Amino acid sequence: MVINLSKEYSLLSDWISELRDETIQLDRMRFRRNLERIGEVAAFEISKMLAFQEKEIQTPLGSVICKLLKAQPVIATILRAGLPLHQGLLNFFDKADNAFISAYRKHKRDGSFEISLDYISCPDLEGRVLIISDPMLATGSSLVKTIQFLRQEGHPSEIHIVTAIACTVGIEYVKREEPLCRIWCGAIDDELTAKGYIVPGLGDAGDLAYGAKLQM
Ligand code: URA
Repeated sequence: MVINLSKEYSLLSDWISELRDETIQLDRMRFRRNLERIGEVAAFEISKMLAFQEKEIQTPLGSVICKLLKAQPVIATILRAGLPLHQGLLNFFDKADNAFISAYRKHKRDGSFEISLDYISCPDLEGRVLIISDPMLATGSSLVKTIQFLRQEGHPSEIHIVTAIACTVGIEYVKREEPLCRIWCGAIDDELTAKGYIVPGLGDAGDLAYGAKLQM
């Protein structure tokens, strides 16, 4: 299931346009904050699909039955580009447990790349709601590899993927490999370059958020 968060125009469309704008995106703090805001909106929308339970709450004037989230999700992200989106999710799911995975594109001389995973910090995932953030769902291969890697830490009851911009090819790949995942995207673009960049996309999300890195 794919949910396009900008299907109905909202402030989110403004934030996406600022992320894409080659001038505005040079303001790193704004770039990170716009990703964070998308994470906040996604968290709110995802929360509508989660289980709630009643609890009696005592106010200074009386008591009232309130509905509270039944169980805290686990929020996972892929270092480093996923951090701002992750922070947005965590701003709203502020009691969630967290998982971090290092996944990166190891580029070869011929321009192709393979996904390398080498670090994981993760709580027990058995029976829990897992929300994974990655700002750019391009080929989908790092996300699928990450999900398979995380399953070694238990079987989540449901998996939500949160992404700022998703490419149709990547969406189809994730749907094929992980048909039960829900994909929440800020926008959907159709084109992917041979080097795995989304077009029009926004460029390299990690570099824009944190600065250019040495190519490895
Ligand atoms: N990662 C990025 O940062 N940008 C893309 O377009 C694709 C993957």
